[in-house]
Amino acid sequence: MKLPERSRIRRIRAPLLRWYDAHRRDLPWRHSRDPYAIWISEAMLQQTRVETVIPYWERFLEAFPDVGSLARADLDQIYAVWTGLGYYSRARNLKAAAESIVADHGGQLPETPEGLATLKGIGRYTAGAVASIAFDREAPLVDGNVVRVFSRVFGIREDSSRKEIVEGLWTIADILVRGPRPGDLNQALMELGAILCTPRKPDCGACPLRRDCDALARDDAESLPVKKKKAKPRRMRAIAVHLEREGRILAVRRPEEGLMAGLWELPGGEIGPDDEARDRVCELLGASFGLQVRGVESVGRIEHVFTHRHLELEVFRSRAEPGTRVRRRDHVGHRWIRPQALLALAHAGPTRKALNLLGVTNEVSARAEGRSRR
Ligand code: SF4
Repeated sequence: MKLPERSRIRRIRAPLLRWYDAHRRDLPWRHSRDPYAIWISEAMLQQTRVETVIPYWERFLEAFPDVGSLARADLDQIYAVWTGLGYYSRARNLKAAAESIVADHGGQLPETPEGLATLKGIGRYTAGAVASIAFDREAPLVDGNVVRVFSRVFGIREDSSRKEIVEGLWTIADILVRGPRPGDLNQALMELGAILCTPRKPDCGACPLRRDCDALARDDAESLPVKKKKAKPRRMRAIAVHLEREGRILAVRRPEEGLMAGLWELPGGEIGPDDEARDRVCELLGASFGLQVRGVESVGRIEHVFTHRHLELEVFRSRAEPGTRVRRRDHVGHRWIRPQALLALAHAGPTRKALNLLGVTNEVSARAEGRSRR
């Protein structure tokens, strides 16, 4: 990839900052200078929309106001606040990173991108974001928004996932960030991508870079950035059973590795593409949990798409004898709890959908939505 000239890259700096000063969104973490609060916002914003993050960020900082309180917290306490935000590995990584900040950095976040990148869960992007926004370091960052803006402004029409192109984009970001207000500059780039230079129907008429934009001149903005076609998610089938014993249901915790690691769910398991789902219920509950059940009633099916997998989950109701004991094979925990209580434990999207199908309402999400609307 041929890099744009340095002067061409530098030229977009001033209009970007002017536009940001006039149009930036009023987000709660933008009122904070606390590196810890900024780090938490960046961790939450990976994979999650701004509007969703706001109430979670507020609750998280109420529960764990500083690095020390996060390092001391139980993972279950952290999950309880994180529930509904998804991608729970982020919560586990935050705790591990907080522990090493306390143990190895005197309780203070490192200020450089190199220092930040030594912490669990902090990759190149987050290191650049925290170093520039919290510590005013001239540290570059590239996320999906930045890739789109650069591809369009500088007319990069090659596969943006290729290593050479990725490195070229980071070099552009590095040239651009040098100078005053590096944190604002990085946020301005991402903000432009989020608000104006959107994947579909970019608002070029309102864009501060329109005079300098190659894609606007060639009228091909929507075809950029060029992305390799993603492989179709692999289909998988599974069953989940609302298994009742004396007014409580069984919740089981998945292993700490693999898909939905460490999360709570209804008991069940994966089945083959041609299996009759109902026929497998008794067998799977027996093999994986040592359970014998009475009566199996089909409730319906939900679908859930993960990054690489498309899950079809068949949901059933059944009952266990009073006093039935659980003998787990692969799962690492189990509890007999009220159905509602499962929603307060860390769980993934398919479990939430299955519980909705079973008529178990999601008070936690309802509360989160209520707060985000205010
Ligand atoms: S002019 Fe249009 S395509 Fe170019 S950066 Fe601005 S919004 Fe994006």
